[in-house]
Amino acid sequence: MELTAADYQLIRLKKQLDGLPQRQKLLDLRAKQAEVQRKAEQVNSLYHECEQAIKQLQDEEASLKAKSAEAQAQIDTAANYKEVTNLTLELESLARRREKVEFEALKLMERLDKAAEVQAQVQQALEKLSRQDEELVSSFQSEGAAIQKETFITEKLREQLTAALPAELLKRYEQARQAKGGAGAAHLEGSHCSGCRVAFTDGQLAKLTQGPEIGECPHCHRLLVVSGEVVR
Ligand SMILES: [Zn+2]
Repeated sequence: MELTAADYQLIRLKKQLDGLPQRQKLLDLRAKQAEVQRKAEQVNSLYHECEQAIKQLQDEEASLKAKSAEAQAQIDTAANYKEVTNLTLELESLARRREKVEFEALKLMERLDKAAEVQAQVQQALEKLSRQDEELVSSFQSEGAAIQKETFITEKLREQLTAALPAELLKRYEQARQAKGGAGAAHLEGSHCSGCRVAFTDGQLAKLTQGPEIGECPHCHRLLVVSGEVVR
């Protein structure tokens, strides 16, 4: 019954620890952090794409510039009118393309600036969330410390108690405990089981009181201490 009391105590302590408000807040905060982190990755890749596209346009711009200079040089040394006309048309076409490339690059630079702004905002948000996380963890740890200390003491007590039990009895206890997901033993309290609170019939009661000192509750199947001094 002392072991049962220790197991109930461990369940209560775990509930207390899980029930600390910081725990839920921390879970919510971690979800929020993951969300902002995803946003950060998205904006980083957008920034990178813009940078790449700008680089390509700049390369194209350089190549158009070189081609224009070449066409211009050819005009200067052109032999006839037809050649000049063709080269002039080429120059005009190159100039139109350059204008378009410059316009596109400008648009992309605006996007890049916006992405950089969002990057900075996201970074700030992440830093703020990280500070909140640290505060919550520290508050959770200090409030949880008392509960954890008691848990540690109860676990030590549990070790001593299990070490003192005969192996066969401990095995029966652990089986019942695992089946019930809580404590493995109860005692006869008046005419009912202290574990499941179900009242026994006269027949069940007679069978229990005439049976071994440690029987089994026919309802919840916990070990049932029928007689002897009950420690609660
Ligand atoms: Zn029972």
